[in-house]
Amino acid sequence: MLEEFKSKDIPYSRVLSSMCTIPHPIAVKAHVEFINANLGDPAVFRGSAELEKEVVRMIGELLHHPNAKGYIASGGTEANIQAIRAFRNLKRVKKPNVVVPESAHFSFDKAGEILRVEIRKAKLDGEFRVDVGDVERLIDDNTVGIVGIAGTTALGQIDPIEELSELALERDVFLHVDSAFGGFVIPFLDLNVKFDFELEGVSSMTIDPHKMGLATIPAGCILFRDESFLKALAVKTPYLITEKQYSLTGTRPATGVASTYAVMKYLGFEGFRKVVRRCMEVTRYLVERMGELGFEPVIEPIMNIVCFKCEKAFEIRNELYKRGWVVSAIRNPRALRFVVMPHVDFEVIDKFVEEMKNVLRK
Ligand code: PLP
Repeated sequence: MLEEFKSKDIPYSRVLSSMCTIPHPIAVKAHVEFINANLGDPAVFRGSAELEKEVVRMIGELLHHPNAKGYIASGGTEANIQAIRAFRNLKRVKKPNVVVPESAHFSFDKAGEILRVEIRKAKLDGEFRVDVGDVERLIDDNTVGIVGIAGTTALGQIDPIEELSELALERDVFLHVDSAFGGFVIPFLDLNVKFDFELEGVSSMTIDPHKMGLATIPAGCILFRDESFLKALAVKTPYLITEKQYSLTGTRPATGVASTYAVMKYLGFEGFRKVVRRCMEVTRYLVERMGELGFEPVIEPIMNIVCFKCEKAFEIRNELYKRGWVVSAIRNPRALRFVVMPHVDFEVIDKFVEEMKNVLRK
């Protein structure tokens, strides 16, 4: 019966717009080993809790701060909510606001609503990076933090985090970097950009192992510069041996912790570099093949996300979906969007382009 339901899911080999992928086989093994652990009760699941600390250290090391404090969350949404919550709790102002780029993921809208924090949206420049001047304009006495995106959901663009870091220090506000997608990509590209804790103004970061970290779902990660942010999230837990809990969810899995650890140990930074290099080769191939059909990218892809200008993006997306292919469409600018995850290889692109030709002939 389960197989029948599962058979209705679209296979990853036809999904060209997901930020998730087939987990690494070693992640699946590790996941199963930790299937019954509950990190909501770390005094019982002591080994799992110790493993989580080690994974946080390893991810911190990747982001130039092995002493960062945080935990493995359910995903980027929880991580972003927790960052805004910590900022709000640390800077007690009457009507708090946070300035995010217009390109920010919708999880910030959820955070704003839940936390009663006004989410102000800053304009983007011609390259779809946040306009730092507009961020500055939106900051006032009630601003508790600003946000920069390192790997935007739509285009994979990287905001000028260095400038945002300087601005955060100058205006005494926190800076959260959402690298839910880019965190496991940017360190392995030869880009000359600083985007992480190496910048003094960066207070917190989101980085999701269940995206380009090849871990099992759910596995997100929130990291803070120091313990004070976690303390701002703590609530008392009278029924448990441990006294406080700072995660958003109560009962929570250790599966993502174990699978992240396994993949990071198994691949190492060099292994990830190879994965990212391959994704970039396939991304360039997609640009070339779409170019043959007359499509032009909105920006030259920086990471393995690419959008092609297309007035009929939504119609084409719907037609492809009817034919069993999944791509996404964005509104502003109107474009077809692709995320070239490790499951998207040269053969998948060739098959997709053939289908695309049929759709365009229609
Ligand atoms: N932040 C960014 C930049 C994202 O692209 C996403 C998801 O696409 C998220 C946050 C939310 O992550 P999740 O879906 O794991 O909650």
